Order: sequence, then C-alpha cells, then structure tokens
Amino acid sequence: MSATAASTAAKVPAGAEPGFTRHAAAEQPLEPLLEVENLRTLFPVRAGVFLRKIGDVHAVDGVSFTLARGRTLGLVGESGCGKTTVGRTILNLVPPTSGSVRFEGRNLSELSRREWRDVRRDMQIVFQDPMESLNARHTVGQILEEPFVIHKIGTTAERRERVARLLEHVGLQPSAAQRFPHEFSGGQRQRIGIARAIALEPKLIICDEAVSALDVSIRAQIVNLLLELQREMDLALLFIAHDLSVVKHVSDDVAVMYLGVIMEQAPSEEIYERPAHPYTRALISAIPIPDPRRKRQRIVLQGDVPSPIHPPPGCRFHTRCPFATDICKTVVPVWESVSPGHNVACHHWRKVVESGDVVGGP
Ligand code: SF4
Repeated sequence: MSATAASTAAKVPAGAEPGFTRHAAAEQPLEPLLEVENLRTLFPVRAGVFLRKIGDVHAVDGVSFTLARGRTLGLVGESGCGKTTVGRTILNLVPPTSGSVRFEGRNLSELSRREWRDVRRDMQIVFQDPMESLNARHTVGQILEEPFVIHKIGTTAERRERVARLLEHVGLQPSAAQRFPHEFSGGQRQRIGIARAIALEPKLIICDEAVSALDVSIRAQIVNLLLELQREMDLALLFIAHDLSVVKHVSDDVAVMYLGVIMEQAPSEEIYERPAHPYTRALISAIPIPDPRRKRQRIVLQGDVPSPIHPPPGCRFHTRCPFATDICKTVVPVWESVSPGHNVACHHWRKVVESGDVVGGP
C-alpha cells in the first residue's frame, strides 16, 4: 500500500471552522522529506508463569506514505487504530518490526547512535498532554534550555536569550521562563510544548493529538500557531488526530487508518467531498455541520473494533462494513487509484462512491 502526501495546495474550505487559517501554498516541486515504507510494528503478547509469547498486537501492519517539506499529512482514525504508534515508530521511540523509514533519503534503521542524535534534532514531537511531557519540577526556562544543553549549543547567557525568543515566538512572555508548567493553562502549556519542539529548528514535527484535549477556541489558536510556524520554517507536519474536523482544516492530505493499516488517502478537500471507503464515510458522517439548516445522516457502524491481536482476514473492516461481500472476508483489497493523489483499499469503492452523498455538506 503506498501513497504520496501533500500533492495539492491547501485552501480554507467553505464552511471551515471559524478561527482556522490554512495558508495556501504556492505550487512547487515537492521534495520528499519523510518516506515510510511498509512499516510494521508488532507488540508481543505474553502469558503464563514463564511469560511465553502467545501472539502479537498488530499495532501498525504495513503502512506506507511520503511527506514533503513544508506540507501536512493528517493521520486519522479511532483510538487504537495504530496512528500514534506510527508517529512513535518514526521517531524510534518504539522499535519497528519491519519496513523502513527514510528521512532526507537516509534509512533511519542504518544510522549509528551518533547519527541518530543529529537526525533527532530535525524530528520533534508535540504530545497531547503537555503535563506528561514537561518535567513538572523544572521551570519552563530549564525545560526549554535543555535541548541546547544536550546539543552543546551556546553559552548560558546565549541559551537564556534563545529561551526568551522562543517564548515570544509562541506568544508567551519571556518572564514565563521563571514559572513551572502547572502555573499555566492547557493552551499555554501546549505553547510551551511547541516552543520546545521548535527549539532546534526541526524540519518535521509530529503532532500527536496535540490539540485534542483543548477547547475549540484554544485549539484554533494552537493550530494557527503551528501553521504559522510551518510557513516560517518550512516545517513538515504529521498531524495525528481522531478529530477529522480539525485535520480537515490543517492538512494538505489526509490518511485514514483502521486496525493498523491505511484504508484511504487523498488531498484534504477530496477526501471530504468524495470519500471512497466506507470507513472514511462513517467518520465524516460523525462531524457536526456548523449550520442548523443542514443535516448529515450519521452512519453508525455496527459491532466493535476487532482485536488487533487477531485482525480479521481479507479486508480488516469487513466485520463492520455495510458494503461487505464474500470476497471481502478472504481477499485483502489492493490499493487502487480513485483519482490523482486519491487512493483507497476497498474491493467495492466504485459502488461506495456511486451510492450517493452521505457527506451532506462541507
Ligand atoms: Fe467494505 Fe469490502 Fe470495501 Fe472492505 S473491501 S471496505 S469490507 S466493501
């Protein structure tokens, strides 16, 4: 399964949630920054007195995509679909079982520890809960100074100056450096997390549910901050979220994951206007329309998400799919092209598209 991210310039679509500002990017040749190929991450399941291995959790099971410089790929799916594990495997926080991750053309699994340390400067992450990722016993100044200390950058005075500039850059007062993370609101803490992520001027930031826990208005501010930084620094963003409504307005491309695999990928507007996978349609149908005169018919999926220890044969979605036929139970659907940049893994995607508009609005 393979897909290429960020092939079209993004615009603010009609009906966009107020407050989000996606800057239209000029069309230019896209240089791949991150190339993920057939990535698999399995976690062993152990049981018994001797903790014998009895199986594997198939958290990520053959994921491929590329992400160009300065572009955003939204990776979405329900909780437990493996999207967070994709982000962590890319950063080697979780070891991959197989497959490859290339960054600027270099296969990350072939790097020495020292080379990895250099590459990690260019690849940063912003977590959902900044309280968990910010050391509560350190001041914000100490937290933001740490990357410079680790990489032996600048004198003490220069580092403090950089910390003050970083805080201003993310919309906080330099005096925030003297305070502790718990003294800030959730949105402010996320700004601190972002300041730490951009400290070493990375090329890629993985936003792992970075705005999911925030109120809508604060969420818009943080998203706009990320987009502003992206424009200034030509940052690539891998935006991991379960909230399709946010992903829609920040992403150039969107990839939809289910049970460890990507089911569909397309330019952002295309996937919302013409979803070709039944699962994508169900996710889109759950997004409220910000117009009381318009209604969208909600598609309620039957049954639970199957266990990732024993994913269903054939199409992984067949146990919940209203379009499923016998072939879906035994044959894994291949990646098919719906239109340029729009790919889907479904035996019956044409029937799904022809079945009519479930989207019901922007
Ligand atoms: Fe549904 Fe079959 Fe398509 Fe899977 S391949 S999404 S089960 S129609």
